Amino acid sequence: MMTKTTMPIQSKEHPNLWIFEHPVIQDKLTRIRNRETQHAQFRRLLNEIAGLMFFQLSRHYQTKNIKVETPVERTEGCQLAHPITLVPILRAGVGMTDGILAMIPDARVGHIGVYRDEETKQPVPYYCKLPSDISDGPVLLIDPMLATGGSASYAATVLQEEYNCNDLQMVCLVAAPEGVEKIQVDHPDLLVYTASLDRWLNEHGYICPGLGDAGDRIFGTL
Ligand code: URA
Repeated sequence: MMTKTTMPIQSKEHPNLWIFEHPVIQDKLTRIRNRETQHAQFRRLLNEIAGLMFFQLSRHYQTKNIKVETPVERTEGCQLAHPITLVPILRAGVGMTDGILAMIPDARVGHIGVYRDEETKQPVPYYCKLPSDISDGPVLLIDPMLATGGSASYAATVLQEEYNCNDLQMVCLVAAPEGVEKIQVDHPDLLVYTASLDRWLNEHGYICPGLGDAGDRIFGTL
């Protein structure tokens, strides 16, 4: 049996995609995919996976040395050097955010709201609230489903071009090849972290095998 690594592995077909094959993440993902899993458990599992993925994808965050007084003596320690900002895409992205905040409670949370116009197939923005100094530190774009990539690409454009975010990563639960390819074309320097590269998008825009509508399953609005 092959040993699986805690680190994400780079997709052979898509160099911008990193996949977490960790057995604990894969076990939780399978429970999430199950149509019988109800929203409370779905949300809990999704947040747990998000926290586990964040732990690894944040490895490049810079620290600065500080002094700390323990109850015994003064010693050297470190703290994160730059403010961290999480940016969930409304609404499903919110379902992964608490799990990451559990790891890093000091992170700021910006929000981007965008939906897809069914006629034009173009992303339509309706909300954006971000810290004005967001580019001072790492930014993590969050959306559980990377489907066509239209919303994610729009959000990445706002973050990189309007807000000058140089340290931008994206995390999703499940990615479709179509979405990964769109991100690669539109944002070649943006790395995407996921628990699974699924097969494709069906004619209704659902990822296959996927897990259905993530927002509805997170919030119990089926
Ligand atoms: N958004 C979802 O919630 N699910 C999909 O399968 C595709 C996009």
